[in-house]
Amino acid sequence: MEDTIFGKITRGEIPTEFLYEDDHCVAIRDINPQAPTHVLIIPRKPIPRLVDSGAEDQELLGHLLLVAGRVADKLGVGEAFRLVINNGEGGGQTVFHLHLHILAGREMTEGQLSAGLN
Ligand code: AMP
Repeated sequence: MEDTIFGKITRGEIPTEFLYEDDHCVAIRDINPQAPTHVLIIPRKPIPRLVDSGAEDQELLGHLLLVAGRVADKLGVGEAFRLVINNGEGGGQTVFHLHLHILAGREMTEGQLSAGLN
């Protein structure tokens, strides 16, 4: 796959504040927030889209969910947040390096599928 901005960020080539990091992923603030709290969980492994992940990524995908919950809690929004993964251009994905959006701090309308991304 082609390198992306998230590849450069996870490798530390673009100075970015990590709200959380471990061997497998980092958490950063979204540069164009769609909610008062808008954080991205980005695996260090450059999987382009969720649909490109395989059985070998099962542990990593579970880890990303665990980290998302932990980071949301740490940011004080553990009681009310939304997790979003955009998959593919038609799904609103613009950076082709898998990432989870944590959105919080505004009302997440019941039944509303769109998180207001893109
Ligand atoms: P998606 O549309 O799901 O691919 O989400 C990509 C997200 O990355 C968008 O919400 C952008 O605002 C965000 N983004 C793009 N470049 C950066 C960057 N350098 N630092 C932080 N967030 C970024």
